[in-house]
Amino acid sequence: MSDAMLRPEPFVAPMPFGPAARRPTHQVRVGRVTIGSSAPVVIQSMTNTDTADVAATARQVAALAHAGSEIVRVTVNSEAAAKAVPEIVDRLLAWGVDVPLVGDFHYNGHRLLRDTPACAEALAKWRVNPGNVGFGAKRDAQFAAIVELACRFDKPLRIGVNWGSLDQSVLARLMDENARRSEPWPADAVMREALVTSALESAAEAERLGLAPDRIVLSAKVSSVQDLIAVYRALAARCRYPLHLGLTEAGMGSKGIVASTAALAVLLQEGIGDTIRVSLTPAPGEPRTQEVVVAQQIVQSLGLRAFAPTVTACPGCGRTTSTFFQELAQRTEAFLRERMPEWRQQFDGVEQLSVAVMGCVVNGPGESRHAHIGISLPGTGEAPAAPVFMDGEKVATLRGDRIAEEFLALIEHYVTTRFVKKG
Ligand code: SF4
Repeated sequence: MSDAMLRPEPFVAPMPFGPAARRPTHQVRVGRVTIGSSAPVVIQSMTNTDTADVAATARQVAALAHAGSEIVRVTVNSEAAAKAVPEIVDRLLAWGVDVPLVGDFHYNGHRLLRDTPACAEALAKWRVNPGNVGFGAKRDAQFAAIVELACRFDKPLRIGVNWGSLDQSVLARLMDENARRSEPWPADAVMREALVTSALESAAEAERLGLAPDRIVLSAKVSSVQDLIAVYRALAARCRYPLHLGLTEAGMGSKGIVASTAALAVLLQEGIGDTIRVSLTPAPGEPRTQEVVVAQQIVQSLGLRAFAPTVTACPGCGRTTSTFFQELAQRTEAFLRERMPEWRQQFDGVEQLSVAVMGCVVNGPGESRHAHIGISLPGTGEAPAAPVFMDGEKVATLRGDRIAEEFLALIEHYVTTRFVKKG
């Protein structure tokens, strides 16, 4: 074998590291929250209660806000729902929950907003779907009526198209144009272009009617990961409106989480996306707040924002024959969740805390040294001692049957002594 064959490939250029800079967009104010450009990626969610039920909806909005949703959308589909909105906002404010509410309007939105000005006023943003504002000749007039009301009430508008309710006139026009091409596009490419065109043309129409560009947010949701990525790349290249990302109808459980993560992570890594929602279908009895936790975890995993301390735990293997290691990882997670509301009030940057719970000496000490605080438990056959590290230094060795309690106490000590108290 010659030397040339053994030589490694020449080193050309380092791979880009980390998420791309966010694309420059207009900034849109939604209540006290800013969306777009240099503003952090905003977490959103949506209620699934009947909005006319003031008590149930206010409770769910408060739960979503408590979980970390920075904007919450409610459906406004009837007169009763529209009338309930100001009451919901009042009740939330009485509880100290100042989360901006977005109203989701469809066929009768123009009428509800016109006839219930208190609802129009109480909402921080309105969402309309150009494919669902009305049909035929009524469509343009009803869309225009909503835009004119948004100008009058000085409200931002999300123009949110969805492939399940795509404006059929746009699709038909693009299909006709496609048929005249010498090399027609595949049908799915025409559908994607129709989504993008519908969003952009509706935004242009809203601007023509007087809505300022910094009052417009766009979304174009589909339920396939690859379609979503293609559609949002096209939207990002062709406009400067902030983009609301979300895979629609992502589904239940791990399927919904994985599909949403796959789609949103690619786009956020490319600097595309200013606000996100993870549309999970909760199993009966499951809390609605799970979609907020997943959205936060996507954004935090990419290093875009920190919402909660991270626990690094090894997966365990044949060297961890007892369940103590999993139990400690679980107790640590629960302890952090329980303590965070108080810590967040008291200490700056505590959401950046990293904790490691490792199962044996193979990777335990190394991973624990990388965390703010970490413990390396003894694996099978190792001496029954668990070294604890803080900021890379070994500070204690725990033994006996109170390892868990002592480790949690050390975490509390770390937070109170190493994070700066808020002034
Ligand atoms: S750190 Fe130890 S217990 Fe954990 S996965 Fe690695 S070898 Fe297994």
